Amino acid sequence: MLSVKNVTKKYGRLLANNNVSLEISPGEIAVLLGPNGAGKSTLIKAVCGLLRHEGEITLNSMNNKSLEAKSLLGYVPELPAVYDLLTVSEHLQFILRAYKTEDDGLAEKLLRRFELYDKRDKLAKELSKGMQQKLSICCALVHRPKVVIFDEPMVGLDPHAIKQLKEIFSELKNEGASVLISTHMIDSVEDYWDSVYIMVGGQLRAHRKKSDGDFSLEELFFSVTSEGSVR
Ligand code: ATP
Repeated sequence: MLSVKNVTKKYGRLLANNNVSLEISPGEIAVLLGPNGAGKSTLIKAVCGLLRHEGEITLNSMNNKSLEAKSLLGYVPELPAVYDLLTVSEHLQFILRAYKTEDDGLAEKLLRRFELYDKRDKLAKELSKGMQQKLSICCALVHRPKVVIFDEPMVGLDPHAIKQLKEIFSELKNEGASVLISTHMIDSVEDYWDSVYIMVGGQLRAHRKKSDGDFSLEELFFSVTSEGSVR
């Protein structure tokens, strides 16, 4: 369970997140939508413990900055976070060691799914941008996180990787993870979401569950972002 309560973040005078609250239950896929500059990445960085902020964020009732909470978290950042001088395999070994997790074969499975297994001895700096993004996704998942945050995960991925990632969304849901996906590629998540939050100007302007009615994410996005609050 991910819980965000009354999070406010200012960069100097700029209010990037204004009293944001949301909850994502186990087995729920939540989508975070909003125009450029709305504050989505800021919220995600706050959830991942990378920013100072006001308000409270917990993962399974533990403060997000605690080691216990961090061990539950998987994060795919907006730009691939890889270490230039580690090989592909070394990345996954490093993450498993950092999280004190045994390698139960998931590392190899992920590399094969994302067509990186034959690149396992290559340095990250020798990978293409899309390959680095795939490695970043593998790193976020290899320790079997219970709360997984994806910030624009599809950017730069080829169709095969996008297909794998969509299957992974469903698998994470079935395994009871809480999943948050921030994306501008609305079509890519239309079949997978359970709830949607729309952020404009640092505030959540709308929150809907799929069960609330027969509407597409795109319709909701444009109705909220062009008309103002419909909460
Ligand atoms: P995009 O869809 O373009 O990625 P976003 O919704 O993720 O946008 P944020 O990156 O969270 O938006 O930015 C929210 C606001 O905070 C923007 O006005 C941005 O210029 C500002 N901002 C973001 N990071 C910083 C920073 N490190 N210092 C100052 N201002 C920042």
